[in-house]
Amino acid sequence: MAILDILSFPDPRLRNKAKPVARVGDAVRRLIDDMLETMYEAPGIGLAATQVNVAKRVVVIDLSEEKNQPLCLVNPEILEMDGAEQMEEGCLSVPGVYETVTRANHIRLRAFGRDGAPFEMEADDLLAVCIQHELDHLEGKLFVDYLSSLKRQRIRKKLEKENRQREAPEAGAYQVI
Ligand code: ZN
Repeated sequence: MAILDILSFPDPRLRNKAKPVARVGDAVRRLIDDMLETMYEAPGIGLAATQVNVAKRVVVIDLSEEKNQPLCLVNPEILEMDGAEQMEEGCLSVPGVYETVTRANHIRLRAFGRDGAPFEMEADDLLAVCIQHELDHLEGKLFVDYLSSLKRQRIRKKLEKENRQREAPEAGAYQVI
């Protein structure tokens, strides 16, 4: 398994639309395992393949405290959604930013699992919100898109600055003899 690099807003690659997975084979299973390891290490409760620069319709989620109940969604499709709920959301691709977003609080979903078998499930509250957030990623959409453009602009400036600082070599990284 491997830890993958998570793209940070406003990286334009986060806007790529993911394509359906044709077959859940070894390569997709390896991607799922790497995404789970990356998500657990971050740590986060959900990760979409587009966040690690893979344009495939794959999502992993784990809301458990013990991080031992992974939910893998391949080619997920929302069949029904209802209700409304406001929740403060964060995102591994928008580090340090938490904002309130309104989403459906109940959804019914169809997807394929890590074993390639199709299944249907229902989700409420945090799980429903998390799934909607991750499915947005597969469409190239981020939770900051629900905010005002002024707020999004402010977040973009803050993260651009932080991204630059992260890329710049640290002064202490060089050994001076
Ligand atoms: Zn996210």
